Amino acid sequence: MMTFNKKLENIKTYEAGKPIELVVREFGIEPKDIIKLASNENPYGCSPKVQKAVVEIVSNMALYPDDSMTKLKNALSSRFEVNDENIIIGSGSDQVIEFLMHAKADSNSKILINSVTFAMYEIYARHVGAEIIRTASEHHDLEEFYTLYKEQNPDIIFLCTPNNPTGDAIDSSDMFEFLDKIDSDTLVVVDGAYMEYGQAKDKSKKIEPKTIVERYENVIYLGTFSKAYGLGGMRVGYGIANEKIIKELYKLRPPFNITTLSLEAASVALADEEFVNKSISLSFDEMNRYEEFASQQKIDIINSFTNFVTLCLNEKQNSSEISTKLLQRGMIVRDLSGYGMNAIRVTVGTHEQNSKFFELFAELI
Ligand SMILES: *Cc1c(COP(=O)(O)O)cnc(C)c1O
Repeated sequence: MMTFNKKLENIKTYEAGKPIELVVREFGIEPKDIIKLASNENPYGCSPKVQKAVVEIVSNMALYPDDSMTKLKNALSSRFEVNDENIIIGSGSDQVIEFLMHAKADSNSKILINSVTFAMYEIYARHVGAEIIRTASEHHDLEEFYTLYKEQNPDIIFLCTPNNPTGDAIDSSDMFEFLDKIDSDTLVVVDGAYMEYGQAKDKSKKIEPKTIVERYENVIYLGTFSKAYGLGGMRVGYGIANEKIIKELYKLRPPFNITTLSLEAASVALADEEFVNKSISLSFDEMNRYEEFASQQKIDIINSFTNFVTLCLNEKQNSSEISTKLLQRGMIVRDLSGYGMNAIRVTVGTHEQNSKFFELFAELI
């Protein structure tokens, strides 16, 4: 009988938001009748300039991509006022998390994360056999993080701000005060996958990669094109840090990890600030409707700095049941029972998509 790496035994396969194709197959619903509000993608798609640019280069697929990624790196370094040497690009920021784990941790390591946070931190930690330490608090409580840091001496600390799947965010002043107290051999990862939304809603949540690079040699900032930029299907993310960290991560990077199309799409998307700002502002307008809806329905909603809302259900409502029933009606949302919460996470969609959600949800509860 085939045996496998023991470290894999306790890993649960990551459950991505159910793709539309699966709902078509399982429930026989027409793709046009399915609404996916499960993976925090931008419901307005991406900049129309991206589509145009990608079509223009689509005839040039035979050659390997430009592995120096100069165009995208230049675009990122001028946007964030850092140097190209401070940047690594991953197939999603997910891949950068994977590199970080392998660069810093092994089976003797401890990884400190928030009790409820992005599932991939734990999965990658398990790949290397590291021990996971979680806070008790559901929301990032930096005092608790500091106490656990002192007690446990972790090798890596993950801070996700704004946090997925709760939507809350850390004040930048609190963040920097915390980072100032961490020793230089502890790697701190600041995951800003939703930072474009968070900083637009509240300036005090804004954390700039530049500040991180200037002040800390042990901190890395992560960003992605999958959320506000509307390029989830292109798989592009990045890490920005001191060049010594980036150099180590480069040792783990497979060559040509970003396709030609993805590199082009991300470069063009980054330049179209107007598109991104517009989608962010539409998203927050629509979020107001979720807040009104939740208050009408007497459901708690967590104040969100992202493009999703987390609806905390009461004891009479069951998040798994409700998500399944929504799914049978062609509405894909994220059940958070796997995170120990009786809650569902809903990506803020377009006006029509949200109206449909309100209608179905009100019917079910
Ligand atoms: C979506 C997400 C990412 C990364 O997404 P990629 O598509 O891999 O770039 C990272 N962190 C959090 C918290 C996310 O929600």
